[in-house]
Amino acid sequence: MGISLGDIIYDIGGGIPRGRKFKAVQTGGPLGGCIPVTMLNTPIDYDSLTAAGATMGSGGMIVVDEDTCMVELAKFFLTFATDESCGQCTPCRVGGKQLLNVLTRITEGKGTEEDLALIEDLSNVMAEGSLCALGKLTPSPVRSTLMHFRDEYLAHIREKRCPAGRCQALTHSRCVNACPAGVDVPSYLALVGEGKYAEALSIHRERNPFAAICGRVCPAFCEQKCRRGELDAPVAVRQVKRFMADQEFKNPWTPTRLPSKGKKVAVVGSGPAGLTAALRLAQWGYDVTVHEALPVAGGMMAVGIPDYRLPKDVLQAEIDHIKRAGVEIKLNSRLGRDFTVDDLMDRQGYAAVILALGAHKDRRLGTPGDDKEGVLPATTFLREVALGNRPAMQGKKVAVIGGGDTAIDAARTARRLGAAEVHIVYRRLREDMPALKEEVDAAEAEGIQIHLLAAPTEVLGNGKVEALRCQRMVLGEFDEGGRRKPVPAAGTEFDMDVDVVIAAIGQVPDLDGVALSPAGSGGAGGATTSRTLAVDGSMMTSRPGVFGAGDVVTGAATVVEAVGQGNRVAVLVDAYLEGKRVAPGDNGRWPDYRVLDLTYSLEEYAGVARAKPVELAAEARSGSFVEIEQVLSETDARTEARRCLRCDLERRNAE
Ligand SMILES: Cc1cc2nc3c(=O)[nH]c(=O)nc-3n(C[C@H](O)[C@H](O)[C@H](O)COP(=O)(O)OP(=O)(O)OC[C@H]3O[C@@H](n4cnc5c(N)ncnc54)[C@H](O)[C@@H]3O)c2cc1C
Repeated sequence: MGISLGDIIYDIGGGIPRGRKFKAVQTGGPLGGCIPVTMLNTPIDYDSLTAAGATMGSGGMIVVDEDTCMVELAKFFLTFATDESCGQCTPCRVGGKQLLNVLTRITEGKGTEEDLALIEDLSNVMAEGSLCALGKLTPSPVRSTLMHFRDEYLAHIREKRCPAGRCQALTHSRCVNACPAGVDVPSYLALVGEGKYAEALSIHRERNPFAAICGRVCPAFCEQKCRRGELDAPVAVRQVKRFMADQEFKNPWTPTRLPSKGKKVAVVGSGPAGLTAALRLAQWGYDVTVHEALPVAGGMMAVGIPDYRLPKDVLQAEIDHIKRAGVEIKLNSRLGRDFTVDDLMDRQGYAAVILALGAHKDRRLGTPGDDKEGVLPATTFLREVALGNRPAMQGKKVAVIGGGDTAIDAARTARRLGAAEVHIVYRRLREDMPALKEEVDAAEAEGIQIHLLAAPTEVLGNGKVEALRCQRMVLGEFDEGGRRKPVPAAGTEFDMDVDVVIAAIGQVPDLDGVALSPAGSGGAGGATTSRTLAVDGSMMTSRPGVFGAGDVVTGAATVVEAVGQGNRVAVLVDAYLEGKRVAPGDNGRWPDYRVLDLTYSLEEYAGVARAKPVELAAEARSGSFVEIEQVLSETDARTEARRCLRCDLERRNAE
C-alpha cells in the first residue's frame, strides 16, 4: 500500500519488454479500470485508485503496451463480464449486451460520435440500477478507457483507424497501419521479391513520393510493428525500399497530371510536407507555386539531415520529380519579409495557401552564459554546414546538449569538421534518448563520448566559451510521458573543458511574420498557439483558405509524418476549393490497398535472418561526409522482401 504504480511496473516488474512503450495498467480484475501513462505516480490505495477511475478489487494488475487497442481491451473485459451475468436484473443482462454491441460497432469502424454518449448513458444505468456488484462494475473498463483514451475511440469513429493496429476490420496490415503516409508496404515488398522494381516503386509513390529519401532516413514505424519481429527480427523494410528506389534512380519520374483547373495554390515551405502537398495538388490540376525562404529546397531534408545519411543528389533527384509535375519552386522568398498572406490571397489571386514552415527555431539552453560566443543552436549550425558555410571546428573541444536526432547529427558533423573531442551531454538514461539507437551507437563508434544523467548549469568564459559547468542528475517521479524526471543531485557540479557548446534541446516553429488576418485588420489573427500553428479538423487556420501542415502544426516530427500531413492537407484543400465534404476515414484520391497473390512458399524464408547493409568503417567515415550505409545487393534485397509474412493475406482471407 502506498507504493506508486510506476514503481511496481518498472522497479519490481522490470518495465515493458522489447523496448515498447507502456500504455495502461488495468487494476482490480476484469471489473476494474484502466489507468494511463500520465498517472504512473498514483499511489496504490483504495481512494487513489478510485479517483483514477479504477478499483483495488482483487489487487491484480494487467499492464499493457502500445500495441494494445484500448477499445478492443474494454470489449474483451466486457465480453467476460456479460458472460458472467446471471440475468436476474435487466440493467446488467440487457445493458451489458447493448454496451458490447456498441463497442463491436466501433471496432468494426461502424461507430458514430453519438455512440460515445450512449456508452455513458448505458454505463450510468447499469451502475445505478444493477442488483449486484457484477452489474454495477461491468461498465468500469469501458468507462475508464473512454475517460482516459477518448482520442483512441475517436480515431476508430472519425478516421476509421485503429491506432494500435489491432482491430482487424480497420487494419490492412500492421505495417501499413503504422506508416504515417499509409504506404502499401506488403505490396511493394512482394513486387521487389519478384524483381518488379518499377512497379513496386510506383505503388510506394502513390502515397509517398520520397522513396529514396525515406529509404535512407525513415525511422521505419512499419518495422516497429512488423509481425516478423515477434519471431526473429522485423523485415528490413527501409533497406528494401532504398534498394528499390535506387534501381530507378537514373529513370526520371514525371508524375501524371490532370488538365488545369485554372486555380492557383501557394505553398510556403519546401520541406516534405509542402512538397508532397504541392505535388498532389499539381497532379490534380492546380497551378502550384512553392515559396521557400532559403536558397535551397527540401527543408530539413536539405539543411538538417547531414550528407553522410542523405546525399544531396538523392534529395535533388526526388525534388526534380516534383518540379516535373509542374510545381514552381521560388527560392529566397520568405513569408513576412518578401510577401504576406494578404499579398498571396488578395493581390496575387491564390485561392488557397498552405503554410508548411517546419520547426526551425532552436530552444535556448536557458542557463547563465548561453549567449557567449561559441554557443551555437544546433539547427543553425547544421544549416550553415549544409549551405557551405562551415564553422571552424578544427582541433576544438565541443559539447552537444541533448539526446535527439539533432544532437547526434550535430555531434557527428562537428567530428567530421575536425573537432578534437566531441561530448554529448544528456540528462536522462541512454534508453530514454529520443535518437535512433543505431545513430547513438554509430556516434559512439566514431569516438563521440556520451555523458548520461548530466545537465548544463552554466556556460563559463570571458565573453566566449571556455568551459561548461554541468550537474549530475538522479531520476525521480514519472513525467506525463512515462519517463522518470531527471532531478539535480546537490553538490555534484563538474566542469567540462570545451570551446564550443551546441544546444540541441528541441526546435519549435518560427511563426514571426505569419500574419493571417485579412488585409487591414492587422495582427496574427489569433491563429497560433504558443509553439505551433493552430489548425482545425480540416487543417485550416483561423483564416479561411489558409491551411497548415507538417512540423509547423505537429511540432518537430519526421519526414514520413510530414508526407502524411502533405497528402492529407492536399485532399482537404482540394475539397475546400471544390466545395466538397471529406467524409471521416475518406481515403481521398488514393487507390484501395491491393492484396497481391503469394507466388512462393513463406516456409522457404522462415529461417532466413534479417539482411544487414554494409557500412563504411568508423575510422574511414568519421572525417568525411560520404554516405555511410551502402545499398543491399539485389539477392539480399529480394530475399529480405520475402521475409515478409504477408499479414495482408490474412485480411483477404477474413473477408
Ligand atoms: C538534424 C535533423 C535530423 C533529422 N533527421 C531525421 C531523420 O533521420 N528521419 C526523419 O524522418 N526525420 C528527420 N528529421 C525531421 C524531419 O526532417 C522533419 O520532421 C521534416 O523535414 C519536417 O517537414 P516539414 O515539411 O514540416 O518542414 P521542414 O522540412 O522543416 O521544411 C519547412 C521549410 O519551410 C521554410 N520556411 C520556414 N519559414 C518560412 C517562411 N517564413 N517563408 C518561406 N519559407 C519558410 C524552411 O526554410 C523550410 O525549408 C530531422 C530533423 C533535423 C533537424
